Amino acid sequence: MKTLFERVFNGSDQMFAKAEEEVNKIAAEVGRDAPMTMPSTAYCLACIYAYIGKKVTTVGELQDTLADVKAMMLREPRTNSIFQSGVGTAIAAEMIEACKYVKTDAPYEGTPYHGHFVDAEVRELGVPLVTGDIPGFVVIIGPAPSTEEAVETIKGYQSRGIFVFLIGGIIEQAVEAGVSMGFPVRVVPVGEEIWSVGHVISLVVRAAMIFGNVQPGDCDGFHKYTFDRINAFVNAYKPVPDITVACGAGAIKLGFPVITNDHDDMWAVPKSLIIYDDTKDWIDTSIEARGIKLKITKIDIPVAFSSAFEGEIIRKGDMQVEIDGSRKDCFELVTTKDASEVEDHKIVVEGPEIDEIPVGSKISLSYTVEVAGKTMQPDFEPVFERKIHQFLNCVEGVMHTGQRDMIRVRISKADYEAGFKFKHIGEVLYAKIKSEFDTVVDKCQVKIVVGDEPNAALRKHANEIFDKRDERLKSMTDESVPVFYSCIMCQAFSPSHVCIVTPERLGLCGAVSWLDAKATNELDPQGPCQVVTKERCLDERTGRYEDVDEAVAEYSHGALEHVTLYSLLEDPMTSCGCFECICGIEPVSMGVVITCREFAGMTPLGMTFSEMASMTGGGVQTPGFMGHGKHYIASHKFLKAEGGLARLVWLPSELKEQIRDKINETAKDLYGIENFADMVGDENSCPSGDPEELLNFLTEKGHPVLGLEPFEM
Ligand code: SF4
Repeated sequence: MKTLFERVFNGSDQMFAKAEEEVNKIAAEVGRDAPMTMPSTAYCLACIYAYIGKKVTTVGELQDTLADVKAMMLREPRTNSIFQSGVGTAIAAEMIEACKYVKTDAPYEGTPYHGHFVDAEVRELGVPLVTGDIPGFVVIIGPAPSTEEAVETIKGYQSRGIFVFLIGGIIEQAVEAGVSMGFPVRVVPVGEEIWSVGHVISLVVRAAMIFGNVQPGDCDGFHKYTFDRINAFVNAYKPVPDITVACGAGAIKLGFPVITNDHDDMWAVPKSLIIYDDTKDWIDTSIEARGIKLKITKIDIPVAFSSAFEGEIIRKGDMQVEIDGSRKDCFELVTTKDASEVEDHKIVVEGPEIDEIPVGSKISLSYTVEVAGKTMQPDFEPVFERKIHQFLNCVEGVMHTGQRDMIRVRISKADYEAGFKFKHIGEVLYAKIKSEFDTVVDKCQVKIVVGDEPNAALRKHANEIFDKRDERLKSMTDESVPVFYSCIMCQAFSPSHVCIVTPERLGLCGAVSWLDAKATNELDPQGPCQVVTKERCLDERTGRYEDVDEAVAEYSHGALEHVTLYSLLEDPMTSCGCFECICGIEPVSMGVVITCREFAGMTPLGMTFSEMASMTGGGVQTPGFMGHGKHYIASHKFLKAEGGLARLVWLPSELKEQIRDKINETAKDLYGIENFADMVGDENSCPSGDPEELLNFLTEKGHPVLGLEPFEM
């Protein structure tokens, strides 16, 4: 019988031998000077960077790092040696996988495997992690005892919101059973071989660097971060070979328990290595072992409801009906009523039900949610309304896009066959509004109307309500409101980050407006959003307030002392890592360049989004680089201290189109300039990405940045 020491040491030797073989092979083939880059990441080979502190950029450097990894794999009969060897095994796994990326950016193209995670994917996890929509991660190393059990387990985790990484034979089982997989549905087939686990560890350590500002080389910092803040665990089906046991030792060092049904030469370690025969019970056992608390809302519908389905796409051919606001009169509305007018949990459908409508139809449908409560305020209506998008997307087989009277909702044939009806839309909205906003909503009823004629009139009325709301929102400025709000939701991952949310500067994730923060504060007075007074303004130009400084010092636990609301250079707001956009100074034109997560290309700074984003994050201030929300760009307060919107010289064309009307309006208001968006460069008007080319473009267009003073840097 082998000891656990022997199994881990043997397994890490095997992983190292494979790494040595692959690295030496690729070095012999392409030469030591060949570049070694992983796609769309600023963290090179992230495991090596995190644990050894080296940025590997060539194959030769990768080869040299083999000695560092070997040195980590201690062989003394001590627990520490097991853990060190386990972490070394994970790094060796990353090296094996990295060799596949030397000659191509997409070694897994045409296979079911995902491989490397780009930085944008890591950042995408930020918001759902802090809101608890992703309560944890499981790495399942397969195959499961049967295809049916594989599907049951994957779907079981998915329906609880747990993000699923698959490695090995379970992927084949999932493919065979037609399980829908991919990053958006939170089931990712990482790779066939055990060394693909290197991609998962790479994602984890990048989360620690991006959100937690853990510094490369700070091994204890990484372990503390993953133990405290990343709710991950491993399920390994038998037989578990030594090489997987060695990876498991690395996982346990990171704080991730391993659950297996393999008894052979396996040694249970309380809370860390759990041997449990009944694999059908693994979900509950694992969730309990990692101490994950799940938010469960019981909803009476015939299909699953989980945040894991939020990214699901329903294709035309799979759709039973489509509620199509672009061609028909459709809308969604939340409105406040007197308590006497609302009958709690009343759901009515006026017009035909789904089974009376021909398959494939585009229909006119509206749903109006009427709420009543002693402390309910009309200001909360748009906040609730915006959540409808998420609520309906969590229904398996339902896809929702848009808002107000421009919604599009597809209900799949599979849902129809499972018995899903229009009334279930009402059930979802009722259950979620009542559970998420229970402190202000006492009663809630939903009216669903189906049919062209009634909705034509109802839509007109809904639009009057939307117009009134817009007027009120437009009149809301930083000067007109009595207080600002702090938001520390991201501290779960970025311990010293604080957003100060104002009407003209929403949270950098783009998901928290001033009204959202106000509602959050009133719904949960001890919660993440607190009132920040604005009585002691020190400098209007930069938006410097004594009150804000005090709040930031308190909520960052002393990590920050001064923050301005409107400056990029003087004590700018910190970034947690899950920002929608990042801006940085472009020194040739003395303007700023903005890029966003969706744009993978190069900016005129010679940096991609990932590279710019790596300049900031983790709750630290980096004058000259700042994360922010998309809607902040068109704000009258955008970089007010540095000249405002007139500093904007370049942004990706897709983002430009999204905010075109708004930036045009702001530039007209602030500078009297028409069609400002056309003066701003993008990847089409400045294809070379050369700053001189951009400057020529700006000169030709008469861009206002050319009349501004240079930055004081
Ligand atoms: S507002 Fe700021 S702290 Fe709050 S969730 Fe968004 S990014 Fe995080």
